[in-house]
Amino acid sequence: MAKNNKKMVDAITSMDEDFAKWYTDICMKAELVSYTSVKGCMVIRPYGYAIWENIQRILDGRFKELGHENVCMPMFIPESLLQKEKDHVEGFAPEVAWVTHGGSEKLEDRLCVRPTSETLFCEHYSNIVHSYRDLPKLYNQWVSVVRWEKTTRPFLRSREFLWQEGHTIHETAEEAIEETERMLNCYADFCEHDLAMPVVKGRKTESDKFAGAEATYAIEALMHDGKALQAGTSHYFGDGFARAFDIQFTGRDNKLAYPHQTSWGVTTRLIGAVIMTHGDDNGLVLPPAVAPVQVVIVPIAQHKEGVLDEAQKIYDKLKACGVRVKLDDSNNSPGWKFAEYEMKGIPVRVEIGPKDIENGQCIVATRYNGEKITVSLENMLETLKDTVIEMLEKTIPEGMYKKAAENRENKTYRCKTMDEIKAALEEKGDGFVKAMWCGDEACEDKVKEITGVGSRCIPFDQEEIDDVCVCCGKPAKKMVLWGKAY
Ligand code: ZN
Repeated sequence: MAKNNKKMVDAITSMDEDFAKWYTDICMKAELVSYTSVKGCMVIRPYGYAIWENIQRILDGRFKELGHENVCMPMFIPESLLQKEKDHVEGFAPEVAWVTHGGSEKLEDRLCVRPTSETLFCEHYSNIVHSYRDLPKLYNQWVSVVRWEKTTRPFLRSREFLWQEGHTIHETAEEAIEETERMLNCYADFCEHDLAMPVVKGRKTESDKFAGAEATYAIEALMHDGKALQAGTSHYFGDGFARAFDIQFTGRDNKLAYPHQTSWGVTTRLIGAVIMTHGDDNGLVLPPAVAPVQVVIVPIAQHKEGVLDEAQKIYDKLKACGVRVKLDDSNNSPGWKFAEYEMKGIPVRVEIGPKDIENGQCIVATRYNGEKITVSLENMLETLKDTVIEMLEKTIPEGMYKKAAENRENKTYRCKTMDEIKAALEEKGDGFVKAMWCGDEACEDKVKEITGVGSRCIPFDQEEIDDVCVCCGKPAKKMVLWGKAY
């Protein structure tokens, strides 16, 4: 069994050695995904899917709390419908998959498999929105979409992926802008609170915004290797789509007007973000809020009298409090079990053996920092229950957040010149660069060309690094967050 344990640990590449390989190893060894014969698509295995279900459950609750309703649109979009908004079709055309035949019959108007559903929502709104009394409509759907990507990686980029897309339509621009910001904040709060992942909120530059949007807002997270990952986006459309799709309503003044729209989404990419924010060389490290199993109980010398009984009592106690708990009484050795559940990223491990029972205690180990504490079994396990719940709800997410935030701060470089950017990246490795920008697209391109970091967003929290553009030396308008992106 010891041999088995060793073999398992050996199988993961160290993240410092090869981060990409480390990532793939975790996806496979923690049984999150599996490859298929469908090129660019993956199977999300039960353990990976259970993480997604937890993400979905929490976010869905938050959306509904804010007044949104779930709907379900068709997965096909007729080409004629997709063509209606010019920027939108141009943006998505290179990566859509087409259905050209139904059975053996060639379709007159070919169908694209939805890459996103703005056009379908717009067509629907034009049928159901007639008066200001019909507004707002706050819709969301949980579906999969298809984008014909050339290179793919588990969770980060695949041809078909799961997501939610929120679509809302409002009487006024102000309301729609408020909604765009509200949903960005909703995502940011979810990432920071439930995924223990710090994010930067900001606005995308003109060149980087969503096809057809007036403004795109995003949350950006920094991964362990210093690369940036866009974790969620929220778009304000103005009345552009409404005009293209001829959605009009009778306003309070009895005049016809165009409504204002938004859309916002997060995807299974968030699982990739969790892996690359919190994972280590022993495997996955999951935030308790989305961990399929929050506590695993590992009996030591379980053949000895009383051990399994005591382990079962702990299981029952935690289960009764709503903790997602697993008791592993299989014949694998404790060493194998430790390695296995570290790989799976289970936040808390409870160890209990004959000596512990004799002393009226058990050992509680924390996955993210490897700390072990002894906890009393007295008082009908009340102390143990309180300790574990406090860890799951507070200490662990806060500690994980702090660790990730420190890592991000260590890899955030404030630079005044292009040379400073190049030097920082060379000396300290990839990371976020904060530098000033004049607002000119040519400078944005030049920074990327020369230093390798592209603009991620214009953060809402601005810092005054300098008063001139990092590229051209003209007066600066904004501080931009730059980075190499996934
Ligand atoms: Zn400039």
